[in-house]
Amino acid sequence: MDGLKQGLEHANVSSETMEKHTGCSSKEGKGKRLWKKVKYQLVEYHSLPGYLKDNEYIVGHYRSEWPLKQILLSIFTIHNETLNVWTHLIGFFFFLSLTIYTAMKVPRVVDLHSLQQIPDVLRRADLHKLHAELMTCLPSLPHMPDLHKLREELKTTLPSMDLLPSLQGWNFMEVLYNCLPERFSNGNYTDVCVLRSVKEDVANIIAPLMVRPITRWPFFVFLGGAMFCLLASSTCHLLSCHSERLSYIMLRLDYAGIAALISTSFYPPVYYSFMCNPFFCNLYMVFITVLGVATILFSLLPMFQTPEFRTIRASLFLGMGLSGIAPIFHKLILFWHQPEALHTTGYEILMGLLYGLGALVYATRIPERWMPGKFDIAGHSHQLFHILVVAGAYTHYRAGLVYLKWRDLYGC
Ligand SMILES: [Zn+2]
Repeated sequence: MDGLKQGLEHANVSSETMEKHTGCSSKEGKGKRLWKKVKYQLVEYHSLPGYLKDNEYIVGHYRSEWPLKQILLSIFTIHNETLNVWTHLIGFFFFLSLTIYTAMKVPRVVDLHSLQQIPDVLRRADLHKLHAELMTCLPSLPHMPDLHKLREELKTTLPSMDLLPSLQGWNFMEVLYNCLPERFSNGNYTDVCVLRSVKEDVANIIAPLMVRPITRWPFFVFLGGAMFCLLASSTCHLLSCHSERLSYIMLRLDYAGIAALISTSFYPPVYYSFMCNPFFCNLYMVFITVLGVATILFSLLPMFQTPEFRTIRASLFLGMGLSGIAPIFHKLILFWHQPEALHTTGYEILMGLLYGLGALVYATRIPERWMPGKFDIAGHSHQLFHILVVAGAYTHYRAGLVYLKWRDLYGC
């Protein structure tokens, strides 16, 4: 590294000397530009300082000890970390959008298909009484002259339905579902689009009445963990090459992000699976939180970041993930008859495969080990690992939505 620096300084001196001799201002500008070009050139693995030597199969296109301004600007240039930065930066904004979407939409999203599966729950309802009440609420229902009129009527009438003390949202939905389409199919009103639109309106308007959303915090803790991990990783890849000190701090931030993502991933499945069994709920939550904090503390040790620790790092994070098998089996034993339990387990298996593959690629450094230097810019193991992490986290988000819907509809 020192040799390279001396060489660069020499190049600087020569260009300055040249400028002095000619005394020409245009040449002076040219010299400066040339110097900048030489100074912020990408370098090869063998000329890196020790702390930046991590993967010898990535041969070139390294930034090395650039000033912060140049490093920040390098987010828009091509080097061997460009895609590492962008894969997780895009992932961060993707999860930010999911968080905003979830906060705004999910409590009100009612899947019509899932609502049609609930008659079992409603079997005990006093439908005659409810039907009578519904008729008084919507007097024109039996002889509906016009579907559009019904839409308007539903919109104005339904928001006040929760004022009826004996009318619970569940039963109301049942009545609407059983009576509306039947009446329409008997009449001349066969416009499927309008009928579907009416059904959607009904579902959306009465969703707040019939669905009692359970707490969302475990889901948002997971989304927060995912966003922290992705942003920390992206920042780490952008800034680490600045100096040994910053690299040390950034790598710890990166490891903390991974541990946070894995720990917080336990929150939605554990909380929503065991919310009716506080003992196991607390047991699993405390276990994974302690494991996450311990991993972060362990990663503060200087030796944790050395290349020799690559397999231990991967194994530790993999072990954290694998400990999730226990609550998933437990959930299956408790709720084997519930379709949601199987549905979420399917997502969890897919997530495990994506993370497992990610850890394998990370530890083995495939494919660059087969063709060193060929994957410096695009396609090396770390980029594949990043994409697999985002895909795994997204799979987990989808599983989280299933948990929310399950508990919103059935409660404990
Ligand atoms: Zn990374």
